[in-house]
Amino acid sequence: MWTTPIDWYNAPITMVLELYNTYGHKKEPFDKPAGATVGLYDCGPTVYDYAHIGNLRSYVFADILRRTLAFNGYTVHQVINVTDIGHLTSDADDGEDKMTKALKREGKPLTLEAMRDVAEFYFGKFKNDLRSLNILLPQEFPFASDHIQENIKLIETLTEKGFTYVTSDGIYFDTEKDLHYGKLGGLTPLDAEHSRIGINTEKHSVRDFALWKFNSELGYDAPFGKGFPGWHIECSAMSMKYLGESFDIHTGGIDHISVHHNNEIAQSECATGKPLAHFWMHNAFLNINGEKIAKSIGNTVYLRDLESHAISPLAYRLWLLMAHYRTLVNFSWEALSGTENALKRLYRLFINLGDNSGTPISKYVTAFTTAINNDLNTPETLPILWEMLADETTSKEDRRATALLFDTILGLGFDTLKNETLPTHIRTLIEARTQARTEKKWEESDRIREELLQAGYEVSDSNDETVVRKIS
Ligand code: AMP
Ligand code: ZN
Repeated sequence: MWTTPIDWYNAPITMVLELYNTYGHKKEPFDKPAGATVGLYDCGPTVYDYAHIGNLRSYVFADILRRTLAFNGYTVHQVINVTDIGHLTSDADDGEDKMTKALKREGKPLTLEAMRDVAEFYFGKFKNDLRSLNILLPQEFPFASDHIQENIKLIETLTEKGFTYVTSDGIYFDTEKDLHYGKLGGLTPLDAEHSRIGINTEKHSVRDFALWKFNSELGYDAPFGKGFPGWHIECSAMSMKYLGESFDIHTGGIDHISVHHNNEIAQSECATGKPLAHFWMHNAFLNINGEKIAKSIGNTVYLRDLESHAISPLAYRLWLLMAHYRTLVNFSWEALSGTENALKRLYRLFINLGDNSGTPISKYVTAFTTAINNDLNTPETLPILWEMLADETTSKEDRRATALLFDTILGLGFDTLKNETLPTHIRTLIEARTQARTEKKWEESDRIREELLQAGYEVSDSNDETVVRKIS
């Protein structure tokens, strides 16, 4: 249970939206005129495997950002790319290609078609995870493999402008030609880079990175030789195609600052002479029991694993919102089950307000707006929500309207909580799932949960309660 940490109603009101910009390392007002369209690009998943709950933190953060922008009167044009080719296991242009690794793992032929099939499969699972977390889907989900020509064109422009050179394995960006290289900071000192990845004798500098990797057997035709675009150039090509050469906000996890985003900036800005994005925003990591998520440690947790611990995806969302997006969080099952109970209490409080809405209560709206507009301070919005829901000095209708307004940002699914009668086939599926859970047949229960999801219903459980939400 939360307690109000400060007296919000006497706190200074800073209604202007302020966001922390990694470029400059400080909070800055986001001062586009109200009503304007905001271009938002979120580095998307590499679809060679299921996204883990750490990856999903990035998209919950981007979703809160998008919803906060909309709350402030902007129209958001959001792009989440899908990396389905060209991402190597190491940021330093070596290691195996992640998609090729997936093909081998799944016993599939090494062809572009099979690669696309694998990508579509994991992309489908990724979208289901987003829906379960009540993350609004972006207007664009561009696949890198559908943008080969845009990549080729960008590489040609960089070559014409003298920023590239060719080695035996690819076309590289010459970082020493870019006087502003490393604008976002976080660069590893050159000595450390050398000892980390060794000296590639063909590269002019250890920081240079591949724009295109040659591959005579598997790859796309290009005037400069068959192969694949590099992961960094893909993001530049797709963000600029959908949002223009300069757009408003670019996001990703903090691991992307030092290499991926510095490289995106370098190649885009050298090609266009314009700033790629005005705000660079990064979410901190999620660790599990104090350790980084790593397959080698065997500690990876996926959204579907929460199910067998009776934790709903929205409890995970709520748990993430209890920390600021720039704070490192540590996942543990104990913490999550406490949040599951808290979510159910919130739902009960909301349902008890009845079915009619009044007018949002201004003192709570002001406090909430001040908190969320302060660089998306979700942990400070939650005590306001609790306090408001329990405030019997105000009418139920007004509290309901306030909760629904807050939930346009928090996305906890209040609007889908209805005591309406469920269609018969959905009720049958829910009963079958309850039976499977009683018999501890987790695979069967997962399968039914997926079927319900496809039919537009999200189910979650805590102790003896099952809550059903209709999703879009
Ligand atoms: P990837 O599919 O590896 O490119 O990652 C997708 C997104 O998840 C990127 O924005 C990463 O920065 C982010 N990410 C990866 N691991 C974590 C983690 N443990 N916690 C939070 N974000 C992460
Ligand atoms: Zn990216």
